[in-house]
Amino acid sequence: MKILVVSSEAVPFAKTGGLGDVVGALPKALAKKGHELKVFIPRYRNLTIQINLVRKQQLSSPVLVGGRKYPLTLEYVAEKRIPLVNYFVKNDRFFDRKDLYRDNALGEDYTDNDERFIFFTKAVLVAVGALDWTPDIIHVHDWQSALIPAYLKTTHKDDPSLAGSRTVLTIHNLAYQGAFGEETFSKTDLPPEQFFAMAPFEFYGKVNFLKGGIMHADKVTTVSRQYAKEIQTEQLGCGLNGVLTQRADDLTGILNGVDYSIWSPSRDKKIPHNYHPANLSGKRANKVELLRRFSLPIRDRAPLIGIISRLADQKGFDLFEEIADTVFAMNLQMIVLGTGDTKYHELFADLERRYPDKLRACLTFDDGLAHWIEAACDMFLMPSQFEPCGLNQMYSLKYGTVPIVREVGGLADTVDDYDPHNGTGTGFVFKEYTAQALLDCIERAIAVFSKKRVWTKIMKAGMRRDYSWDESARKYEELFQQLSNS
Ligand code: ADP
Repeated sequence: MKILVVSSEAVPFAKTGGLGDVVGALPKALAKKGHELKVFIPRYRNLTIQINLVRKQQLSSPVLVGGRKYPLTLEYVAEKRIPLVNYFVKNDRFFDRKDLYRDNALGEDYTDNDERFIFFTKAVLVAVGALDWTPDIIHVHDWQSALIPAYLKTTHKDDPSLAGSRTVLTIHNLAYQGAFGEETFSKTDLPPEQFFAMAPFEFYGKVNFLKGGIMHADKVTTVSRQYAKEIQTEQLGCGLNGVLTQRADDLTGILNGVDYSIWSPSRDKKIPHNYHPANLSGKRANKVELLRRFSLPIRDRAPLIGIISRLADQKGFDLFEEIADTVFAMNLQMIVLGTGDTKYHELFADLERRYPDKLRACLTFDDGLAHWIEAACDMFLMPSQFEPCGLNQMYSLKYGTVPIVREVGGLADTVDDYDPHNGTGTGFVFKEYTAQALLDCIERAIAVFSKKRVWTKIMKAGMRRDYSWDESARKYEELFQQLSNS
């Protein structure tokens, strides 16, 4: 199959979260199966790796956004040995900025995000036309590329270069919908009937890119089976549960995979000491060095708990705030790596001041440190209010860093609660979204941590779990194949 992938992030070029990891890995896994992939992302100012082999092509047709014409340049680089080319949509007015979606220093979204991603999606369609390449499947991700299924069903329905192309929209997080004021609609150049009351793009008087994508995509997927069920409920449907229920027959949950060439303690190049289940001594060495680096005392009996996260309400840190003093009264240490909402920066900075020998808060984005924390910690804390899939708990399992998670979304699908009666389980799981339930769960984990043999058994059970892309890529392949044959 010829598969076009459109996303606002893809590792190793641009990433703010799980979306980048997924779009970095899934197309590669499909290309390895022999499919032909072209992956489009915006050309941001700072790509996370230096690319030498970039070629450039200035396209003659400009892109129209809100009645104005903007030039489009394509940069591209082909992967070695697999049929995959990465394309970068370049227009400096829209993408030559420090951050991807928001000015992180101000903590505010860019005010022209609507125009930026209208430009991006239209530019991809212009570019595909110019490449003279008709994809069988167009796989788009989240609201930033959700306009594409709508263009295919409306403005581009008679476009010969896209005849026969079928669309799949993957929702990585329903909480981010790309909702803008009504003045945005005219800039999309979609037909007016797309924005009448109850029309695909209309949502309480706003223009909602994700809703339009859900209504128009041939198939919709999300990133775990549990989350696929949850988003059809009022509680976790973020207002779009009705629309998703309407599309239930075309909605599936496919768990994200892990790229074990990047996230595996035996091969990880970003950690000081590699290790594997048969010899865990490297893990202890990683812990000691990390504690030294952060000038924390080395206390063997105290578990080191890691957090690596966007600091957003979704992630459950409001629960942690309520019990923080009780938690830090226990014999444990903690390293937090995260960026996000100011209130959580303040929370962790304040806790660090009050518990200097127990907590370090690194309020930055640092991929190398993320690997080291996974490799060094005894436990990983992820008390999410909702979690579409979650990758860090799967990384944690592989690194023998026992996850403490809430039973929700992908966390529920990937971590099994430790059962003391039959000795099974890979982590510690709590149900109710309450501070008390979280506290009980942390206490349970700490009590088991002191029983070294039991603890090692839990670690090893997690390390044996296999969440590689093989199975997930096979499910996407099956879905794409069904769709292109239908
Ligand atoms: P989400 O997509 O909701 O942010 P996931 O758990 O699915 O959550 O993916 C988060 C990804 O982003 C992981 O790869 C994690 O290591 C990474 N990450 C999050 N915050 C940071 C940070 N401050 N520094 C480095 N990596 C981070």
